[in-house]
Amino acid sequence: MKPSMYPLAVYLPFNRESLAGKFVPAKNGDPPEDRRGTWLLVQDNTLLVHEAGGEHGWRLPQAPLPEELARTLDPIVHLGTYKGAPCWAAAVPSGTDSPAGFQRESLLPAQTRLTDDALSLGGLALQAIHWEQTSLYCPRCGTRTSRMQEESGKRCPRCSYEHYPHLHPAVIVLVRDGDRVLLTRKAFWPKGRYGLVAGFVDVGESLEGAAEREVHEEVGVEIRDLRYAASQYWPFPSQLMVGFTAAYSGGEVTVNRHELEDARWFSVHDLPDLPPRLSIARFLLDRFARP
Ligand SMILES: [Zn+2]
Repeated sequence: MKPSMYPLAVYLPFNRESLAGKFVPAKNGDPPEDRRGTWLLVQDNTLLVHEAGGEHGWRLPQAPLPEELARTLDPIVHLGTYKGAPCWAAAVPSGTDSPAGFQRESLLPAQTRLTDDALSLGGLALQAIHWEQTSLYCPRCGTRTSRMQEESGKRCPRCSYEHYPHLHPAVIVLVRDGDRVLLTRKAFWPKGRYGLVAGFVDVGESLEGAAEREVHEEVGVEIRDLRYAASQYWPFPSQLMVGFTAAYSGGEVTVNRHELEDARWFSVHDLPDLPPRLSIARFLLDRFARP
């Protein structure tokens, strides 16, 4: 890994920087004529990979793809180049069986067996497909949109409205008080798992304001010394998670039952089951809540 001015969190999977120059994004101009190169085949939240080859026992599919698979792909997006060769994102219809020689691997960090590179490429593919599927028509007048040359956006040929891929900022906050840390639990998480306060930024709100508000709304306490720590792109479907640390400044922990099943202080010497290694929540905990 090359030395960098960035904090290490930029190398978390899903952040484009984690591909360290191996991936170059395409502008939305004309894609290459022939469809050689690497294919990121997304089916729901999984990636379809070849079931043999490579050092991990699977590999990313290379062109040519089997004809019965190729004709089901929609949309197909030219993502850019990966290791100098063209790289494509394509959606495989939900509910179809994997063709012979292919298997599905989860893109969800808690379940994945993919390498960090494959996960990051898969995340970019998920986002590109989501944007393609949700930008077909002008949001103002309903006319079919067209791609803008050299830009990632779409333009309406009728009313000239331009729109660009959506990114939804969210904050995630590690609250510490001496050698204890405030953790939260959602009901649908695996049994015993605890994570951090997190939530979407409201319209008109600063990141700092969102962090303070989310902590107050979810667990009822006040914070001070809010500091930016790291960020991670989260492609389910398009969040930018902005991570902060903060010190506890007062108030009793009061669990917001609309959002959480539980919230409590844990000693940093005795932490419960935590989110997976590949997430910014775990990055913040490993970095700022270890003795
Ligand atoms: Zn329009």
